[in-house]
Amino acid sequence: MSGESTLEAARARDALDPLRGFRERFALPRDAHGEPLIYLCGHSLGLLPLAARELVIEELDEWARLGVQGHEHARRPWVPYHENLTAALAALSGAHPSEVVAMNSLTVNLHLMLASFYRPTGRRSRILMEAGAFSSDRHAVASQIAWHGLDPATALLELAPRAGEDTVPEEAIDACLREHGEEIALVLWPGVQFRTGQAFDLARIVRAAHRHGCIAGFDLAHAIGNTPLALHEAGADFAVWCSYKYLNGGPGAIGGCFVQQRHADAQPRQHHSGGLPGARLAGWWGHEQTTRFLMEPQFRAAAGAAAWQISNPPILAAAPLLASLAIFTEARMERLRAKSVQLSYFLEQLLQPLAEQVHLITPREKARRGCQLSLRIAGGAARGARVFAALAARGMVCDWRSPDIIRVAPVPLYNRFEDAWRFARALGEVLRESA
Ligand SMILES: *Cc1c(COP(=O)(O)O)cnc(C)c1O
Repeated sequence: MSGESTLEAARARDALDPLRGFRERFALPRDAHGEPLIYLCGHSLGLLPLAARELVIEELDEWARLGVQGHEHARRPWVPYHENLTAALAALSGAHPSEVVAMNSLTVNLHLMLASFYRPTGRRSRILMEAGAFSSDRHAVASQIAWHGLDPATALLELAPRAGEDTVPEEAIDACLREHGEEIALVLWPGVQFRTGQAFDLARIVRAAHRHGCIAGFDLAHAIGNTPLALHEAGADFAVWCSYKYLNGGPGAIGGCFVQQRHADAQPRQHHSGGLPGARLAGWWGHEQTTRFLMEPQFRAAAGAAAWQISNPPILAAAPLLASLAIFTEARMERLRAKSVQLSYFLEQLLQPLAEQVHLITPREKARRGCQLSLRIAGGAARGARVFAALAARGMVCDWRSPDIIRVAPVPLYNRFEDAWRFARALGEVLRESA
């Protein structure tokens, strides 16, 4: 090996990386000998920020010390706890603080958003989404359609890549909307596609959807904390995300939601018993905070996205996210993105000599991807699965997506150029052995 492809070259890149110190703030899973595994799986579950442990223990201690008084008197009072997360989530999603709220989990938030924004009327009753969407999103959408008494077989429009292709260009979404726009009530699209790693131009999708009178909503599970986002400026109507992937909020962490300001403003602020319910499923936590505990029967909505909250949030599932978001604020998304672009390109180049056997299905243009690279191994799914198993045996933590994809995500917060090098070397060896 020579030039950029040596371990020394990778280490030299690491030595110059201004973000290299952040790796030490995360717990790195280790093998049986205590050696850190090569963890390239932040697209599935981000690593533990070491500070999260303290923040969780602090809440347990406050609960022990104060009991119910913790709601108001904990160091970080529990009643407005979610507000601690707002500023960083707004920065990462490109929103005004009033447009975002941490609550529930992803699919639940998707249901709540669809309850508000999917309002099929007459001819305009369909939902456009991608074919091959994450199963949970499809289940949510199909069940919402059925909930309205419609048939998913006709009301769900699924846009697939062209034959022989893996990704969907934005032009295809435009073309689909030109053809079917008047029948479509809502477009639901991912920020980054979970299987291919393709990143989309959200502003362009919003423009196309709005041109045809459709609502534009996004699932940002694989985008938030990975690619820069500008939801407000893009004019997105709503968005949802989970916090356990690139946001490192921990398994089952509290999710998040974005509602464009004009929609929150347009909703009736008061729901009277017997009056119009408003297009929102409500609970006491969405009630305006200062009068919430009067427990009155009328619902008075909090301002902004906060009105979509239903229950009091899980503090113990929010505390780790607070620790992680502090790291994002310190590292800054523009710097993370700059490193991410370099790191994924570095890995792409190291895989170049294996090109006959490893097909990269993720787009090569940096604007069209985040940090994940999705690889299809030549020789069919069975060989791909064997290669994946052999990689795991060598301490590579990545994942396998049916039917035939290995997903690898060098994450700029805690991965090194050396990790990319080690992965590429392991893949080369494994491919030679399973030739
Ligand atoms: C990770 C992921 C989910 C998971 O949903 P939960 O409700 O958090 O269990 C759903 N949709 C997409 C696109 C995802 O990437």
